Amino acid sequence: MIDIPAFTIEDQHTSGAYPKRPLTVVRGQGCTVWDEQGNAYIDATSGQGVALLGHCHPAVTSAVAEQAGTLVTCPEIFYNDRRAELYHLLASLTPGDLNRFFLCNSGAEAIEGAIKVAALLTGRSQIVATRRSFHGRTLGALALTWNPKYREPFAGLTSNAVTHVTYNDLEAAEQAITDETAAVVVEAVQGEGGVYPADAEYLQALRRLCDESGALLVTDEIQVGLGRTGRWFGFQHADIVPDMMTLGKGLAGGVPMGAVCWRDSLGPIPGGTHGSTFGGNPLACAAAIATLTTLRDEQLPDRAAQNGQWLLDVLQSKAHPAVREVRGQGLIIGIELRGRVTPVLKRLQELGILALPAGLNVLRLLPPLIINRDELQTVIDAVWEALDEQN
Ligand SMILES: *Cc1c(COP(=O)(O)O)cnc(C)c1O
Repeated sequence: MIDIPAFTIEDQHTSGAYPKRPLTVVRGQGCTVWDEQGNAYIDATSGQGVALLGHCHPAVTSAVAEQAGTLVTCPEIFYNDRRAELYHLLASLTPGDLNRFFLCNSGAEAIEGAIKVAALLTGRSQIVATRRSFHGRTLGALALTWNPKYREPFAGLTSNAVTHVTYNDLEAAEQAITDETAAVVVEAVQGEGGVYPADAEYLQALRRLCDESGALLVTDEIQVGLGRTGRWFGFQHADIVPDMMTLGKGLAGGVPMGAVCWRDSLGPIPGGTHGSTFGGNPLACAAAIATLTTLRDEQLPDRAAQNGQWLLDVLQSKAHPAVREVRGQGLIIGIELRGRVTPVLKRLQELGILALPAGLNVLRLLPPLIINRDELQTVIDAVWEALDEQN
């Protein structure tokens, strides 16, 4: 290894796209990551929502190692055993007939795919999304993402086919959805936007409005799907099945992967209308099979429900003067502060806890689903300590 600190080299060459934190992470195991000096941190970010099984889960590590020595790349113009196994497994986990899949390599790509699939299947070209939504940064996904800060520099390049309506506001949705609407895209819990779970009645009403208008209901499960909310998919809390959903982040245990899933009864899309070189590659498929099998066999969605409720109860039981509200569902928790979140995150890092913001004043906890109560208690103690010092 070269003898120059990582931050020196990265600062010299980085795109500048990322606000950086002064920490060089070199290793991870379970819920813990370590820096170059060997300092340990509890990763309550799951590496941005990805490490559902924690870092370097042995099932994923060995599946990746084995597949890396068998076959890494195989485009979807050929059949592949691992890909077939993943399709089969996904179909067993998704409710209803959400059994048709397009595999890709990231969340934003899954959203891009969902937009195209919706247009192809409905012959329509208008989209309804929600205020405070986050759906990714590529130009198509960006048009759905609400925050004007992300969109405005590219205003001339993004589509104006998207109408943003207030989240959890049924009347607004009613007015925006027309017989031109191809898709209504909604997060089951808004993550980046501040950790706001959808009201069950809202999702149920969107289901009904989509049925009436012929629009497809698309739930973005990239951040909250695969067990985080305490159910396999966030929309299950509302007892509905969407026409389509997007997966990403934790799907392949840290190996890049995204997926668009839609109802079998809607049929396939015409050949040649979409594609991806890396989509559905055997390496990512093997990692996803190991991840999903472990989530299922260890009943991690249930564990997220139990530990998430416990965490929420503990956090809500203390009326801290720096806290305005605590909300969440399963192991996605937002602590809305009266002040800015950045100094709190900085202090938490000094205390050995990595956490995320969601907007300017929400502290977001997104720990691995395998986290235990002792680790959660350590996080809670550090959060109170960091908040005590802010006043
Ligand atoms: C992270 C995220 C995306 C974008 O995923 P990338 O892999 O970063 O492109 C889209 N939607 C939601 C809800 C997300 O949390």
